[in-house]
Amino acid sequence: SRTAAIIGSGIAGIAAAIRLSVKGFQVDVFEANAYPGGKLSGFTQDGFRFDAGPSLFTLPQLVDELFQLAGRDPKPYFDYIRLDETCRYFWDDGTRLTAWADRQAFAREVETVLGESASHLVAHLEDSATKYRITEKLFLHRSLHKLSTWCNRDALFGYLNLPKLEVFKTMNRANEQRFQHPKLVQLFNRYATYNGSDPYQTPATLNIIPHLEYNIGAFFPKDGMIGITNSLVQLAKDLGVRFHFNTRVTELRTTGNRVVGVVTQTNGQDASPAPLPYDLVISNMDIVSTFRRLLPNARQPERILRQPKSSSGLIFYWGISQTFPELGLHNIFFSQDYRAEFDAMFRQQTLSDDPTVYLNITSKHKPDDAPANGENWFLLINAPNNSGQDWDNLIARTRRNVIRKLSQQLGVDIAPLIVCESVLDPRSIESRTSSAQGALYGNSSNNRFAAFLRHANFSHQFQNLYFVGGSVHPGGGIPLCLLSAKIATDLIADA
Ligand code: FAD
Repeated sequence: SRTAAIIGSGIAGIAAAIRLSVKGFQVDVFEANAYPGGKLSGFTQDGFRFDAGPSLFTLPQLVDELFQLAGRDPKPYFDYIRLDETCRYFWDDGTRLTAWADRQAFAREVETVLGESASHLVAHLEDSATKYRITEKLFLHRSLHKLSTWCNRDALFGYLNLPKLEVFKTMNRANEQRFQHPKLVQLFNRYATYNGSDPYQTPATLNIIPHLEYNIGAFFPKDGMIGITNSLVQLAKDLGVRFHFNTRVTELRTTGNRVVGVVTQTNGQDASPAPLPYDLVISNMDIVSTFRRLLPNARQPERILRQPKSSSGLIFYWGISQTFPELGLHNIFFSQDYRAEFDAMFRQQTLSDDPTVYLNITSKHKPDDAPANGENWFLLINAPNNSGQDWDNLIARTRRNVIRKLSQQLGVDIAPLIVCESVLDPRSIESRTSSAQGALYGNSSNNRFAAFLRHANFSHQFQNLYFVGGSVHPGGGIPLCLLSAKIATDLIADA
């Protein structure tokens, strides 16, 4: 049968391996780390289990689809629940608001706590659904770089409804026009961060994002986020995919318009005397690193590679020796000046001294993730991508600011409750996953052309080279990465 090499076992690489295997390919996955999943991985420390990267799970059907494609029932491999409560919000002035999955309950909460008319919320969520319908088939399920995408009924529907996408307005502007209460504007502006963008720059089109969480739902995998990676790796192995860990691809050899060899190193040593030949290659490595490091002599798609990158993150993993009933699975502690926070991040490339803090606690749903009477805290602070800042200093400062903010909100000094700690920052995200500048979501979406400035899922120069993952079309985040694998492999004929 025909053979395929996949560079990287991020979520998109694993999904692509499954899809190619179902098509009849013999697939080898090369992974530089000792473990699969890239950003979607996990670890344990002193009895606390942590998901390392993503914590919010939307569109679970895209994971189920991979099992179904392989003719398997997903349940024995992978199970999840739908959350009743999507997030708890906290403000410094003492305001607290719970976003319920049930629309009526959420609307009532917004009316009671903020005095905002329920009709505004309903209109916003309906608008989000409309935007999703217009863009879904056009942007999310197809290659933007094939003529057929632009010449069919879905495209026509898109053209006719283009004004509803509000590409000429910023997200913040649209939300200010929609809501009276600044706290609700802030709450919905937050969704820009789901793909690492700035609500004061990104087009209102990205108001499609809340549709996933509020209209389709937020979910929790029963084994934690790592369950997504582990179950899909198991499925891939069951289908005959071979994983090669600690094995880095260092070069792609090309002749004319084909990739003819994959050069690898295992544990820093040359793994094979000659480049390995494959019928096709899919790179799940960041597109910038793929060109700069693996194909330095090929023509570089400079315009795409040089696009501004999305934000990154500073993550504290804290084992906490107390439980907090007022906290849920997802919690947000908002900053007082949201605009200043984004200005600091995107214009000054630094961290604000009053950052918004996202706190995820999986032990709320999975008690064995922490020792009895303890909680596993994952704190994410949106951070600028890496341009050589003094991170050690920024981390120490931010740690103090976060402890101050949370201690004040929870009415107890949390510093002595931290019994173990790990930190992930833009530098380590970059070195662990090869993401350019440690960006979490590839290019930023801070201008209205961003969707067209992500690389296609196939190479224009090499016939047998494809790209998947958060740095290429359709974008970052688990659902879009899974779709990138679908789009890329749909372009490939069965083996
Ligand atoms: P990556 O995860 O980037 O992995 C790429 C893999 O390729 C790595 O394992 C790397 O070692 C390997 N590799 C690279 N180069 C080579 C090479 N030359 N040879 C061999 N192997 C190589 N998304 C959500 O949907 N919800 C969230 O809540 C969310 N929160 C996030 C929070 C954090 C802290 C982070 C870091 C990300 C978050 N994201 C979230 C984004 C999401 O994690 C990513 O978009 C997604 O996981 C990226 O997957 P990927 O397929 O692009 O590969």
